[in-house]
Amino acid sequence: MSAPRIAVSGVLRTWDGAERTGVNAAYLQSVLAVGGVPLILSPLLGPSIASRALDGVDGVILTGGEDVDPQWYAAERSALLSPPSHERDLFELALFATARQRELPILGICRGIQLINVALGGTLFQDLPSERAGPVDHNPATPRSARGHSVRLAPGSRAAEALGAVSLQVNSFHHQAVRDLAPSLVATGWTEDGLVEAVETNGEAPWLLAVQWHPEEMHAEAGAPERGLFRALVERASARAEIPENAVG
Ligand code: MN
Repeated sequence: MSAPRIAVSGVLRTWDGAERTGVNAAYLQSVLAVGGVPLILSPLLGPSIASRALDGVDGVILTGGEDVDPQWYAAERSALLSPPSHERDLFELALFATARQRELPILGICRGIQLINVALGGTLFQDLPSERAGPVDHNPATPRSARGHSVRLAPGSRAAEALGAVSLQVNSFHHQAVRDLAPSLVATGWTEDGLVEAVETNGEAPWLLAVQWHPEEMHAEAGAPERGLFRALVERASARAEIPENAVG
């Protein structure tokens, strides 16, 4: 099998007095652990370069980070919205559109599930505690790999197959979530009180799977089911990497 090239969407942050761009190491470690070749794509590239940046790429991970701007789903900003990144929104929306057009397999994580849902016509809760209070704490002050709440998965779904389970405890640090599901997506994972935590495409649509939690933070946990999400993406991307006409485009 060819080792597939996996684009990982990056962040742009000011940190220690310098503007920096990159991504949490855990995303790259998770891709490397299952034999993929991760490539960081910075929002600095901008939407006009997104298409060119995906040349030779076999799969895409849309990563966690800033709140998605509610302007993309025609909602007023909540006072509790955390500052969106216009640059990152524009870049990732362009990246996603090109990836779909080329039928690249896509894995969305946290902000990634939100961005995908919005790009396909869905909406978000901008702030869960104020808009959908419930028994589940989605943003506890615990380590990033701490499993805090349960998720139930639809039997036979891509998510259940990849994770090898129909329920599991997941980590959780988000205050936004899927509200109205985009028409072309299917929800396949939920909290005990019905909040969507996993979505995918079905049937013959290009492969796409997205989760609200952070599977990459489990990269150091031996036998973590989350490794199966990255393995599923890389297997799908490998199959694609072996098609000669896709090798350069
Ligand atoms: Mn959660």
